[in-house]
Order: sequence, then structure tokens, then C-alpha cells
Amino acid sequence: MNAFIDLSSDTCTRPGEAMRAAMARAEVGDESKHRDPTVTHLCERVADLLGQEAALFLPSGTMCNNIAAMVHCSPGSEVIAAEASHVETSESGALSVFAGARLRTIRTDAGVFTPAQVRDLMRSAKGTRAPRVSAIFAEQTHNRSGGSVWPAERIASLAAFAREHDIAFHIDGARIMNAAVALGCDASDFGRHTDSVWMSFTKGLGCPVGSVLAGSTGFIDAAWEWKHRFGGGMRQAGMLAAGCLHALDHNIDRLAEDHENAALLASRIARIDGLRLTQSAFETNMVFFELLDEAADTITLARKLESEGIRIGVESPRLLRAVTHMDVTARDIETAADALACLVTA
Ligand SMILES: *Cc1c(COP(=O)(O)O)cnc(C)c1O
Repeated sequence: MNAFIDLSSDTCTRPGEAMRAAMARAEVGDESKHRDPTVTHLCERVADLLGQEAALFLPSGTMCNNIAAMVHCSPGSEVIAAEASHVETSESGALSVFAGARLRTIRTDAGVFTPAQVRDLMRSAKGTRAPRVSAIFAEQTHNRSGGSVWPAERIASLAAFAREHDIAFHIDGARIMNAAVALGCDASDFGRHTDSVWMSFTKGLGCPVGSVLAGSTGFIDAAWEWKHRFGGGMRQAGMLAAGCLHALDHNIDRLAEDHENAALLASRIARIDGLRLTQSAFETNMVFFELLDEAADTITLARKLESEGIRIGVESPRLLRAVTHMDVTARDIETAADALACLVTA
């Protein structure tokens, strides 16, 4: 089968036999008319899991962010997020294209910021003609900071600040279950404070398609309208939702293994002279590291690794990213670390 060790992303997992069997058995209906029982069941379970009233099944996490922005933001308003958030780096400027909102970012240590930082940003732009801040987006876990975790108390304090200032609070929860497993808490400890929150099923949870956006019933009613407008209405999507239900039952607790494997990889990389880890903590499933040799470059290194059956993510000419997931084992991590050590010190 797949002997390749792919550490480029946790999106590269392939559904196993049990998930495929669950998908094949799914009871289905027309999802866009709210008549797919498996999708309805998934949405009820995820709303509960994230501490919200209702939820909506969508094809991607990007569409979750876009729909939330359409509901929360008016043209000319601002969205505040941490620097290098996915909405800034990886969504082709969708916030400004669709919602007409401008993104304003906060420099952070690890993707996590405070109400005081938002207050300072708002003070620096005071005046009758300054744009209104319509939403705050938090990313759980923060991808480009190395899968760092927002503690529940920090989320609660930011949400209280947002409520006080009539600002919507949204969580991009692509890896919210990694955060819950890492902290040993419930995802609702983060989600219940928000105006909208979503989780991805195609990252660490190993499904082929699907994200679920949750919020109040009023929010979800408005979100349905945008789902139709964006062409996100589906038909017999229960086949996809069945994979997601399977993942809820089988693939959450095991995320702890991915976190152990990331820590293992980090400890091995720390011992390789030509590499430097660029994050101080390894809380979930990501390891970012730099190549120190000025004469070498990450693209060449990645190509050499690939010829040995190992793939890692190239972030820049110096920076690399390795992401652990259900299709890599501790032994694969050892193999990858040995190959890295050989290539970098060669
Ligand atoms: C992957 C990802 C998204 C987007 O999800 P897609 O399903 O790929 O559209 C958004 N935010 C973060 C933090 C992600 O890692």
C-alpha cells in the first residue's frame, strides 16, 4: 500500500477500511433541502461537542471562515487575527473579496493574543472615520506558530472583551480537537464562548471531505443562506458525514499519539547539528524547523528526502514543517529523523 512517509500535512491521510465501510452504509437524502439524516445527525453531534445550538455541514474549512465572515462583517469593517493566521496566509484574500472586510493582524509569540492587544490596536485607530472592528478570529490550534494551543481561559477573556465591544468572536477550529486532547478538556470549553466556531474533519481526524460550522440557531439560519449562495449545498452528503461520524467515534483520543510523535520528532531534530527548531513548545502535531547551513536550501533537502520516500513541507528557503497524523507511526518518525540527520550532516 502506502509505504511513503508523508509529513507534509495532516490532510494527506487516507480513509481506512472501517471508515469506507461506514460511508458505504450511510443513510442518505437531499442535504441542501435539510433531508439527509446522516448529515443532520452529524450536525447535532458537532453542535453539542462545540457547545453551540446548531451546526451546518460544509465542504471545507475555508468556506466555514468565509460564511462566518459574511454573517459577522460588513464591507469596510475590520477582522482582527494573529499574524500568519490561515485567513491571512492561505485563503487567497477571501475575507476582503467576499465580505469586503480588511484583515488587521497582531504580532504574537505563538498565535495567541490578549484583550489588551486588541484594545491597543483599536485605540491606535480611533476616530470617526476609522474602520469598525466587526470580528475577532482566533485559530485553534495556531498552525503557523507550530500547532500552539489557546488556553480556554484566554478564549473566554477575549470573548468577554468582544461581547463588551459588540464584536463577533469566531474560532477557526481546523485543529480544535487537537487542542482539546492536548489540554485534556472538552472542545465546548473553547466553542461555547464564541459567536461561531468550526472543526475540520480532513486534518487530524482523517476524513476525505467535510467541516462543520456551529453557532446559535440565528447564526446558522443566516449561514444556510450563504451556504446556498456559495454553492455549498450538497445532495447525498450523508456518505461524507458518515465518515465524519466514524471519526468522532474512533479518531479523537488517538490524536494524543500524533502529539507524542511530534514531540519525538522534535527531540530527534534537536540533536541534529544543522537544524534548529523554531518553536519553543510542541503541544500538538506540528514541528517547524530551520536549516542552518546557508549554502543549503530546503527545496533541495525536501527533494532528497522525497527520493527516500519521505515528504516534508517547505515553508520558505530556510523553514520546514513536519506534521504528524494517523498514517505515520513512531517507527516512521525514527526513519524520517535518521534520513534528515544523514542528509543534513552529509
Ligand atoms: C486547513 C486549514 C483551514 C482551511 O480548511 P480547508 O478545509 O483546507 O479549506 C483553515 N484554517 C486552518 C488553521 C487550517 O489549517
